[in-house]
Amino acid sequence: MEGLPGSGFCYLIGLVIIHNGKTFENTFWADTKNDEITIFLKVLELIDQFENYTLYHYGNYEIKNLKRVGNKLNFTNKKRIDKIIRYCCNVLSFMYSNIYLPTYSNSLKDIGNYIGFKWTDKKSTGIQSIVWRKRWESTGLMKYKNKLIKYNREDCYALVKVYNLIKVIITNENNLVSAEDTDEAMIIHVDNIKKSSPFKFWNKDFALEEFDMINKCSYFDYQRERVHIREHKLPKKKKANIPIRAKNPHRINKTIDLYSKNCIKCKKYNLDKKRQISRKVIDLKFTNGGVKRWIVRYRTHYYSCNNCKIKFLPTKYKNIKSKYAHNLICWSIFQYIGNNQSFIKIEHNFYEIFKLNVPKTMIHEFKRYFMEYYDYTYTKIKKKILCSEVIYIDETPLKMKYDTGYAWDISHFRRSTILL
Ligand SMILES: [Zn+2]
Repeated sequence: MEGLPGSGFCYLIGLVIIHNGKTFENTFWADTKNDEITIFLKVLELIDQFENYTLYHYGNYEIKNLKRVGNKLNFTNKKRIDKIIRYCCNVLSFMYSNIYLPTYSNSLKDIGNYIGFKWTDKKSTGIQSIVWRKRWESTGLMKYKNKLIKYNREDCYALVKVYNLIKVIITNENNLVSAEDTDEAMIIHVDNIKKSSPFKFWNKDFALEEFDMINKCSYFDYQRERVHIREHKLPKKKKANIPIRAKNPHRINKTIDLYSKNCIKCKKYNLDKKRQISRKVIDLKFTNGGVKRWIVRYRTHYYSCNNCKIKFLPTKYKNIKSKYAHNLICWSIFQYIGNNQSFIKIEHNFYEIFKLNVPKTMIHEFKRYFMEYYDYTYTKIKKKILCSEVIYIDETPLKMKYDTGYAWDISHFRRSTILL
């Protein structure tokens, strides 16, 4: 049956009747929608000549149309249509999920082509048939009608061929070849197919030995690292690899003694040395060959002034505000900005490379330190830019956790500053 989708109109019915070894072709054509019932009644008349038959069709389109038209007919004729529906056999339902052909789809076109059926017009498809029908409607040219009739008839013969294929398979079902002959056989039973699923856990035989190597490289310890089998309880969450704080202090690379010669208040030189104190500052030392951990111990005494009686520490000592020194902070910020490392990663690297415990919270402090450190430079650059005749501004959105931030790159031809 050929119809126009969406219009509820079937304009062409083709039947190939094989009776007593003879083949008869029948075509019923409707010029307009009003002729549809007429052609269905003609089909009824033809089929009713046969007492016993099977009406083969492909897909559910035919049944849908028979039911649709049947509902428009009187009681007697509806009964006749119902009888035909009972004698119908959808060949597609046999193909679908029972017979697997090496085709992209189960369409009559794909299967027909695979089993060697040739349509006269290679363009003939369901969509093309709509085009031909529309062209016939607008021009009335016989060539389009003839194309459609031929296409429809050839579909019938293709169906005959598919039917024959199924018949061969069913009749030989018990004699289908065994697994040893599968390479030669055209049709084999699914049970006899050698299983070649790639999804298995034992060693595979690769067609090329290079694939074995590639496979090894791609997986490494994937199964050991990533696949967990839950036996009893929920698997414990793997603890973050936080380095254990080293108890032993690192070797001191340098000791700097700080002195006071005179009183910080009265400036007199009459001082007494009191208790000695010291503090360690952790730093890194950059050399031509690399970078190493550098621990400096600052040592001094409490001083007491014999003149004004105050007790004090040398100013230089008091000015040591942080446990971490400039080079170490530079290195962290370089890792953070230059190497795009996360705070956790930087913390980890400090331990891995220098055996230093620098908590990631400190890196926040380092950022603040740098902000203050470069504040003067920033102000100076800004001043220069504002004095220039042309300013270039580029905006880049930054995806943040809850919001979108923006980085503004403001520059003139020599200097650039970034505002966040
Ligand atoms: Zn003093």
